[in-house]
Amino acid sequence: MQMIKQGKDPLDSVIAEVNLVENDPEDITVGYGGLPNEKGVVELDSSVMHGPTHNAGAVASLRNIKNPSQVAKLVMERTAHALIVGEGALDFAKSHGFKQENLLTDRSRKIWLKRKETLSDRDFWYPPKSEKMDPELHSFMESHGTINCCALDSTGDLAGATTTSGFFFKIPGRVGDSPIIGAGLYVDNEIGAAGSTGFGEANILNWGSYMVVEYMRQGYSPEES
Ligand code: ASP
Repeated sequence: MQMIKQGKDPLDSVIAEVNLVENDPEDITVGYGGLPNEKGVVELDSSVMHGPTHNAGAVASLRNIKNPSQVAKLVMERTAHALIVGEGALDFAKSHGFKQENLLTDRSRKIWLKRKETLSDRDFWYPPKSEKMDPELHSFMESHGTINCCALDSTGDLAGATTTSGFFFKIPGRVGDSPIIGAGLYVDNEIGAAGSTGFGEANILNWGSYMVVEYMRQGYSPEES
């Protein structure tokens, strides 16, 4: 909000906002300290979209880089691409000077380990409620994280960013809704902006953010949309 009030670009402002959460080791759903995939490796997804230029960039399954939203912005600004994944995204980030670091905190490692220790023969990839499951772990499995931030500046321009460590204990390489433009984030400078958290697969199937903006175009309020 301070940046918006200073007249900074709304995209820089929303990225600065989500960086606070990406850098926070206590948040187990985003960036550094996010819960890892089933192999214990943190893989991050993020997208950004700039209203005035109607341009966007995204990265998915990015390892070892704390601020995927900043990398997503560079994908938008410095390439002709919209989405770069995995090793390619890591190479791209390194070539722009991003520092590689281990994103798995002790807290997240212990939660991951506990989940491994309590797997049962009733487990599917995402375990249903099971008596064997540790209650604390179960509450993690049922909760969702991710941060989306959208902003409107005083000149009427919009921007948005979404960033996440994705579904807890996902299959390595699984990509959620957050880096998919139209699903985890959508901005139309004339109409509005929307982004999401929650079960990404459901959102990918319904293109949630795009539909919210479309309903606003048709005259529905943000809440109804
Ligand atoms: N939407 C995120 C994903 O599916 C997860 C979440 O918001 O909890 O990757």
